[in-house]
Amino acid sequence: MSDNLPIMTTVTRVIQETPSVKTIFFEEEFDARPGQFVMVWIPRVDEIPMALSAPDALTVQEVGDATRALGMVKPGDLIGIRGPFGNGFSPEGRILAIAGGLGAAPLLPLAKQHLGITFLLGARSASDLLYTNILDTCSDLMLSTDDGSAGYHGYVAGLLRDMDLSLYDSICVCGPELMMKSVLEILDAKGISQKGQFSLHRYMKCGVGLCGSCCMDPDGLCVCRDGPVFRGDILLMSELGRYHRDASGRKC
Ligand SMILES: Cc1cc2nc3c(=O)[nH]c(=O)nc-3n(C[C@H](O)[C@H](O)[C@H](O)COP(=O)(O)OP(=O)(O)OC[C@H]3O[C@@H](n4cnc5c(N)ncnc54)[C@H](O)[C@@H]3O)c2cc1C
Repeated sequence: MSDNLPIMTTVTRVIQETPSVKTIFFEEEFDARPGQFVMVWIPRVDEIPMALSAPDALTVQEVGDATRALGMVKPGDLIGIRGPFGNGFSPEGRILAIAGGLGAAPLLPLAKQHLGITFLLGARSASDLLYTNILDTCSDLMLSTDDGSAGYHGYVAGLLRDMDLSLYDSICVCGPELMMKSVLEILDAKGISQKGQFSLHRYMKCGVGLCGSCCMDPDGLCVCRDGPVFRGDILLMSELGRYHRDASGRKC
C-alpha cells in the first residue's frame, strides 16, 4: 500500500454511536496497529487525521467543517484514506486502557486484540459513552461520567485513585489533553510515568513530519512523525495540557 496517495474506498454503513459521534464503515481494510492514524480525504472539503476504530472503520466527532462533512457521508459515497501513519501503542504484559470521550476510538482495537484488559471509559454523560456493548464483552470495563449518569461520578482519572497501578505493565491513554495530563500527573506521583503511553490528537496537516504544524516544545517532537503515541516520561516536560497550536503551529 502506498502511504502517499489516498486509496478511495466506498462507505458501506454508518452507525450513530452517540448524539455527536458516528462510526463510518468502508470497503477497504487497513492493517494498522492500535493508535496509528490515517489521513482521511473528504472530497471537495479537506484531509484530516483520524484513528481507525476497526480495520474498516473510523469514528468521527463533529467539531468543524471537515468532521461535519464526514459525518454526512452515506453508504455508496467515496472517501480517500492515506496511511496508516505513526507509531501506535506498544503494550506489553498487563494492560490498563484509559479513554476519555472520543479517545476510545484508537483504544477499541487494542481491547479487541488483548482480551480481558482493564478498560476505564469516561465521558460527559451516559449517552456519550462509546462502544460500551463491545467493551463489556472483551474487557474488564469501568465507567465514569462527569454528571454521574453512569458509573463513577467524576472524571475518568478519578477511577485511578483506588486502583493498584503496580498491577499493570502498560497504561495506554487517549482523550482530551487535560484528562491525559491528570493521568500523567498521577503516574508521575507514583513514579511510573514511563509505563504510560499517551496518544495525542494534535492539529496536523501533512501527517509525515514535513509541515511542522504538530511540533511540540521543548524538543520539537512531531506528533505525526514521532507519535502520535508518546511515553509518559517523555511528555512530563512537554507542552501537553499547557497550550495548543493553531494550523500554522503558533501557540494558542
Ligand atoms: C492522530 C490523530 C487521531 C485523531 N483521531 C480522531 C478520531 O478518531 N475521530 C475524530 O473525530 N477526530 C480525530 N482526530 C481529530 C480530528 O483530526 C479533528 O477533529 C479534525 O481535524 C477537525 O477538523 P474540522 O475541520 O472538523 O474542525 P476545525 O474547524 O478545523 O477545528 C475544530 C477544532 O478541532 C481542532 N482541530 C482541527 N484540526 C485538527 C487536527 N488536524 N488535529 C487535531 N485537532 C484539530 C481545532 O483545534 C479546533 O478546536 C484525530 C487527530 C489526530 C491528530
